[in-house]
Amino acid sequence: MIAPVNLLLIAALAGVLSLCVLGSLARSGMAGIRETIRANLLTLLAFSTFALQNTKAPLWLSVLVPNTAIALALCAYYAGVRRLLGLSVPRHLMTLGCLAALVVVAGYTYVDWRVEPRIVAMSLLQMGFMLGVAIVVQRNMPPHRSRYSYRFVWAVTMISAVVCAGRAAVYLAGLDSVSAFLDPTIWSVAFLTLGVLIMPCLTLGTIMIIHDRMLADREQEANTDFLTGLMSRKAWWLQAERYCAQALRMRRPLTLLLLDIDHFKRINDTHGHAAGDAVLRHFGLLATATLRTGDHVGRVGGEEFGVLFADMRSDAVLEVAERLLDSVRRTPCAHGGSTISYTFSAGVEDWIPGENLQVFFERADRKLYAAKTAGRNRIVGPGQEAERPLLPVAA
Ligand code: GH3
Ligand code: MG
Ligand code: MG
Repeated sequence: MIAPVNLLLIAALAGVLSLCVLGSLARSGMAGIRETIRANLLTLLAFSTFALQNTKAPLWLSVLVPNTAIALALCAYYAGVRRLLGLSVPRHLMTLGCLAALVVVAGYTYVDWRVEPRIVAMSLLQMGFMLGVAIVVQRNMPPHRSRYSYRFVWAVTMISAVVCAGRAAVYLAGLDSVSAFLDPTIWSVAFLTLGVLIMPCLTLGTIMIIHDRMLADREQEANTDFLTGLMSRKAWWLQAERYCAQALRMRRPLTLLLLDIDHFKRINDTHGHAAGDAVLRHFGLLATATLRTGDHVGRVGGEEFGVLFADMRSDAVLEVAERLLDSVRRTPCAHGGSTISYTFSAGVEDWIPGENLQVFFERADRKLYAAKTAGRNRIVGPGQEAERPLLPVAA
């Protein structure tokens, strides 16, 4: 049977490897990495001082230091997971739990030398933290992304919680008796083998979650228009293709509104580029406020926007578009002490089942150009030829 001290050595080496990988991620600035590094360093400290237990090292060094390091490592890991998931850290609760366990450890070290109650106290503490991590991860799984890394951490923490509960039960029931933490009994070696694997596995899981979140952040950046916060053209187009496929599958209507801000170059030339940018941001906010959350809106060109309405026909979409145009007319953009009034022209088209998105887009674009040619500040729908009356724009 492998000697417990060798197990600790192997675990310490795994910890060093984990730290190397975590170190490479430290510069990303992602929340939770520093805490996970701290948890691994504390675990290394715990393993190296636990190894002193059968030597002449003083009790504070071979018992109190490693157990305190384990408690702090659990706190650091739990705090890291919570911070990574954007949650606050319940410091008081964590401190209380650790103090309770460490008081038991100190009592059964200096007052009454018994190893089993110390093992029970520390096992229950670890079980509490593991269940805490499992619950937090379970509740914060991403809804639209792969949950693999979250499930991995959940599984490791649940297994660890079960092992800790089993270990506490074994020593509470007196099924095993040890005079020192590193006594090589079957139970002791079995629990130690499982126990030393936990931190490397948890660190691996955290690294997977960090990678997943970094990828999600980059995807979000690539899919979002920096200026308006709406979808970028590429993301909008890809999603629009999915809308077409879904409309075909479910035999549902689909309508496209394409709009373009009128005389935008003039706004840039008169008020400057920053003012033009402010108008684009202003329009983004108005559009978000007027449209439903499910409406698929994106910036498809410089001052051009596309909105796909699933389950709506053009007559209803024309009403929404008129409401949006009305809102734009009535709410000029405030910028640098002046107000900039603007309008847009738009084209609306119903999707023909089976139609290619490019063709659908071009048909709506032709309606948009009909609105431009007819004098702007208007919306042209299917079967219409820009006859809608113009409303004066506020100066
Ligand atoms: P029309 O009514 O026919 O649409 O005329 P327009 O002036 O709006 O259209 P045109 O295509 O002549 O000019 C669009 C201008 O939009 C030109 C380009 O410099 C400007 N533009 C494109 N992207 C941005 C941007 O991100 N910020 C700013 N400030 N201007 C932009
Ligand atoms: Mg324009
Ligand atoms: Mg344009």
